[in-house]
Amino acid sequence: MLASAASQLGFDVHVFCPEDDAPAARVAMKHWQADYDDDDALSGFARACDVVTLEFENIPVSAVEAIAATGTPLHPGAKSLAVSQDRADEKAFLNSIGIATADYRTIDAETDIAAALSTLGGKGVLKTRRDGYDGKGQAWLKAESDISVGWQAVGGAPCVLEAAVAFEREISVIVARSSSGETASWAPPRNVHEEGILARSIVPSGLSLEVEVEARRQAVSLVDALGHVGVLALEFFVMADGSLIANEFAPRVHNSGHWTPEACQTGQFEQHIRAIAGWKLGDTHRLFDAEMLNLIGKAGLIDPAMLAPNETLTLYGKREARAGRKMGHITTRLGPRKD
Ligand code: AMP
Repeated sequence: MLASAASQLGFDVHVFCPEDDAPAARVAMKHWQADYDDDDALSGFARACDVVTLEFENIPVSAVEAIAATGTPLHPGAKSLAVSQDRADEKAFLNSIGIATADYRTIDAETDIAAALSTLGGKGVLKTRRDGYDGKGQAWLKAESDISVGWQAVGGAPCVLEAAVAFEREISVIVARSSSGETASWAPPRNVHEEGILARSIVPSGLSLEVEVEARRQAVSLVDALGHVGVLALEFFVMADGSLIANEFAPRVHNSGHWTPEACQTGQFEQHIRAIAGWKLGDTHRLFDAEMLNLIGKAGLIDPAMLAPNETLTLYGKREARAGRKMGHITTRLGPRKD
């Protein structure tokens, strides 16, 4: 989707990734297929580009450093990546700039868990500090008796234990910051998760304007503090009183922003390309009420003939519809924006 947006804006796209069958490579001018530790390939790729970006935050920092060493601009930079790769660093950073998170403890060994769980009210979710996504690397602990199974479920890796948050709903703010420091955010969608995976994003969120404005303010303050260039998504839990607790952020275009191209003047993919190219950002004004539905696993084997006229289908071209795998999404324009 980023490659398509860049191509529409007149750029030649090069994609670097280890897989031989990467969906992005199909819409790119050139595919550099090599491992992330292949410094020669990384530097050849970077030298062929005017600007490099990334769309997956778990790329090894060493690969990012090899690209940066060529002098080709890389956005977002190592700071956004490093902070978001470690859940403990991420929460500490958010807290340091005044963004509230769930109460948490760092866990280095199984023996740390019992005391941490009791200080967090006896219920929490254990999350690996690194490499977790879509509910992977997570285990709920609802009693002391869950500790040993939970620790095994997360592979005994360094973790954070987070207090359970009794949220009323979840939202996210998609925000962009350009290399000139200009920022723009979209109206936050309400996000519905099933088994730790995003199932649907809906706009409008149903929240008051006041809560939405505050969420957008916090997201802008985060990209400014990181010196982030590109799109970033900040996920929030919203409490019944409208207060906000940040869950996590992703330093890239985000699944909960997939409705933006169909519902807004400028979508997140185009905006990311504008931001990293140093262009003026596009208008994020929302034109339609919309809902995005993720197609997960076998739901991705959809018959396009079944689509309604107001539905737009995006398929990622993944070869295998494995359980829990995001295969595509449908955005429904529910009608002209009403709020
Ligand atoms: P994450 O991978 O951290 O985004 O978590 C995936 C989903 O699990 C979130 O969007 C929530 O629906 C749920 N979740 C994660 N952490 C918590 C928490 N501390 N309290 C309640 N629900 C949570």
